[in-house]
Amino acid sequence: MATATAAKAKKVAAPKVKNQQMLIDGKWVDAVSGKTFATTNPSTGQTICQVAEGDKADIDLAVKAARKALETGPWSRMSAAERGRLLYKLSDAVEEHKEELAALETLDNGKPLRDSLNADLPLSIKCYRYYAGWADKIQGKTIPIEGRFACMTRHEPIGVVGQIIPWNFPLLMQAWKWAPALACGNTVVLKPAEQTPLSALRVAQLAQEVGFPDGVINVVPGYGPTAGAGLSGHMEVDKIAFTGETRTGQIVMEAAARSNLKRVSLELGGKSPNIVFADADLDAAVDGAYFGLFFNQGQCCCAGSRLMVEEKIYDQFVEKLVAKAKVQNVGDPFDMATTQGPQVSEEQFDRILGFIEAGKKDGAKLLTGGDRCGTKGYFIQPTVFEGVKDDMRIAKEEIFGPVMSILKFKDIDEAITRGNKTMYGLAAAVWTRDIKKSMRVAQALKAGTVWVNCYDVFDAAAPFGGYKMSGMGRELGEYALSLYTEVKTITIALD
Ligand code: ADP
Repeated sequence: MATATAAKAKKVAAPKVKNQQMLIDGKWVDAVSGKTFATTNPSTGQTICQVAEGDKADIDLAVKAARKALETGPWSRMSAAERGRLLYKLSDAVEEHKEELAALETLDNGKPLRDSLNADLPLSIKCYRYYAGWADKIQGKTIPIEGRFACMTRHEPIGVVGQIIPWNFPLLMQAWKWAPALACGNTVVLKPAEQTPLSALRVAQLAQEVGFPDGVINVVPGYGPTAGAGLSGHMEVDKIAFTGETRTGQIVMEAAARSNLKRVSLELGGKSPNIVFADADLDAAVDGAYFGLFFNQGQCCCAGSRLMVEEKIYDQFVEKLVAKAKVQNVGDPFDMATTQGPQVSEEQFDRILGFIEAGKKDGAKLLTGGDRCGTKGYFIQPTVFEGVKDDMRIAKEEIFGPVMSILKFKDIDEAITRGNKTMYGLAAAVWTRDIKKSMRVAQALKAGTVWVNCYDVFDAAAPFGGYKMSGMGRELGEYALSLYTEVKTITIALD
């Protein structure tokens, strides 16, 4: 199945996994209904194991446990510094088990092991560690109001937090959700994606082992319209944090509004412009554009899926990019030489092939790829379309796969106008050696993150989130603390 000539490096054995229960109130339990669902290995399409299938009844129990832990358990009496220590311990435990967790992630999601090991794990560990440091630095202000009063604010935990995460970066999304929520003193109920529940359950076990009290963290695997909806519409959940598709985000927000107006933060889809000017370092821009789209099999909400290249260098750029797409190793994600693994599921695989057909039908020119790879599992060839127009489906909709759309532009004004011509606003990038041009574009693009001469640079300290229909709120960094705290004003009469 390999499409490249690169020498084969070491292969690692896929882990064996037993059937999984869910974690509620510190206990590993079956679903109330007794139901289970299969989680699948995307490299083969075969079942890895059965997982307890949570539904509303299980969410109810988890929310009760989280409420109890919040209000009466040891968590409520724990100092902020102690919470921080627990998060440090969790970051250490994840680090000690990084090889095991990376293998589990690769098994369930299909991403190359070298990516799980070198990207997902270090970023997750750093995220727990970063927020461990915040735990005892979350503080309010004293405010000089008029009159004889002392006025102060407290930044209090919101309460019981429901968190729903997707399948593209399961460990990392769990860390982005858990670390700030726990640092701020909330208790959590997490619903991992039905495609990839395994790593979340293993990290939950590690959290238990390092001493998080019962009920502080609960993990209920299951499907979106059942377990997920149970959480977003629950009257006793104070906040819902969601990462996933824009359409699902709207459903979650509606459920939050209709139930108890719980706080909502959303990290949703994108169709990010990646703008390459003629004065860019060409090879760096080709590498960055390739990585910006094809990393994680194209399954990134911030993928640079509208690659816009200035007319003057267009032909040269496209040639280099296609040459790169042709020498990738697509295949077994446990082979350390593999650069592209399978898509996560048959559903995604079919959807992406459907977009490729739409691209051809709409008149884009297919330069390489365009088909499945091999005969089993959900592998797709790295695919590049050129001559893509703004109104084609592949230029407008989120594909979430290894399909690149290249668009041509003439000048900076056109790049900015067309770059912003989307309902999304998650990320963008600009490649140029001209600092003024880079700043002008970075300021003009309506996106939560703009990378200049780089792509996908993430750090726990740097905020991430969307403009427009890419979401609301900013995860990571100091900004994320406001997603997990309520501000209380206390005013004391001094006379
Ligand atoms: P995808 O289509 O890529 O799987 P989704 O937005 O559907 O993206 O999934 C992201 C997460 O949202 C998953 O954990 C999924 O189970 C959950 N989800 C899906 N539908 C709903 C829903 N109606 N309510 C709450 N959560 C949902």
